[in-house]
Amino acid sequence: MALSGLDIYKILPKTNCKECGFVTCLAFAMQLAKKGVEAGKCPYLSEEAGNILADAGRPPINLVSIGSGEGCLKVGNETVLFRHEEKFRNPCGIGFIIDDVLPEEQIKRTASRLGGVSFERVGQILKPDVIAVRQSSNSAEKFAAAVKAAVDASGLNPVLMPSDASGLRAALEAVKGAAPLIYRVTKDNIREFMPLAAQARVPAAVYGDTLEEQAELVKELNGGGVAQILLDTGEQEPRERIWRLTQWRRQALKKNNRLLGYPAVTVLKGKDPYSVAVEAAGDICKYAGLILLEVSEAEETLALLTLRQNIYSDPQKPLQIEPKVYTIGNAGKESPVLITTNFSLTYFTVLGEVESSKVPSYIVSVDTEGMSVLTAWAAEKFTPEKITDSLQKFGVSGLVGHNRLIIPGYVAMMSGNLEEKSGWEVVVGPKEASGLPAFLKNLS
Ligand code: SF4
Repeated sequence: MALSGLDIYKILPKTNCKECGFVTCLAFAMQLAKKGVEAGKCPYLSEEAGNILADAGRPPINLVSIGSGEGCLKVGNETVLFRHEEKFRNPCGIGFIIDDVLPEEQIKRTASRLGGVSFERVGQILKPDVIAVRQSSNSAEKFAAAVKAAVDASGLNPVLMPSDASGLRAALEAVKGAAPLIYRVTKDNIREFMPLAAQARVPAAVYGDTLEEQAELVKELNGGGVAQILLDTGEQEPRERIWRLTQWRRQALKKNNRLLGYPAVTVLKGKDPYSVAVEAAGDICKYAGLILLEVSEAEETLALLTLRQNIYSDPQKPLQIEPKVYTIGNAGKESPVLITTNFSLTYFTVLGEVESSKVPSYIVSVDTEGMSVLTAWAAEKFTPEKITDSLQKFGVSGLVGHNRLIIPGYVAMMSGNLEEKSGWEVVVGPKEASGLPAFLKNLS
């Protein structure tokens, strides 16, 4: 838990010797609390104070990696209960469960389809993160083969759901080096699973019936050399699941409970696709670090990927694109010039409609600090002066052989002023981007 300047001051030597570069210990403490200076700058810090500061510097919720290489999933390291307090940092993972009793060809086909789910939204590629294989067979070899087939075919990060230690041992060997998540350690299997997890140095999910049991198991795992842990809610009804997720987050952030300072995993299965989607949406908002879904079609997750992107964006910093002039299609001297803002959602909505019109065009994205058209206009970030500056800065007059601009219909009121300031003829476009295809096709 973060310490205040006064908390830190209490454990400093209080000699005001100035060797740290600050006039007083209090001034040093205040800077340390703001993370503006390193604790090591004070040469007289006691060992106990050093340990307290190091502990306070650790994130309240540990960062956990699942998988290896650049595409590995990192979850945790969260610092706030509510998104508007700062932001949620590491988007929760979303993945699929496949059963090992399916024929191997079907596992490969399904895994390949699931791994191929990917789409672009406001300039970002959205895709699932993990593939989980559940052992329902009695054969460790069959389970290991299914894990290998699913991971190879999907390219996703692996999650192992073994039924016993022999299955876990075989699966760990099958995907050696891929840093899979072990799902899951319980009081019944901890003696067998813990050494395997520690030896392979892989993360493990842990489930306890109660908060206390969960904390005890985490303590035992830490003592046994397993540092990367996810807390499993178990297959609970939504109310109980959300209660657990919320309690863990509160315990970690508000009570500095290190044993519950880990990201959480939830598993949703055996329900109709709509129920799965609704419950998973709740888990994304209320604090899951990883969600494993049993879905029949990968497309059922598309809405969840979109929601995740929204929840994990910075509420104080809208998604922005680079302010510049974008060339759409084979635009030339006679192509229309459209003006919009650099808010990603606005730009990509306009882009989609311009592309579907098949009219080669230029889109000038004005720097409005990521605000949408009307918000930016109200905040005086989308003004005739700013648009004129952008036209000059981006050299738009050199791209076309005309001097006609199209502005969004919602800011029609600035057209006269913009004509005066820029010297361009202003044409008022539709209010909604969806009107652009017809508008562009009818432009004479
Ligand atoms: S070096 Fe340490 S003891 Fe000296 S003023 Fe700075 S904080 Fe205080």
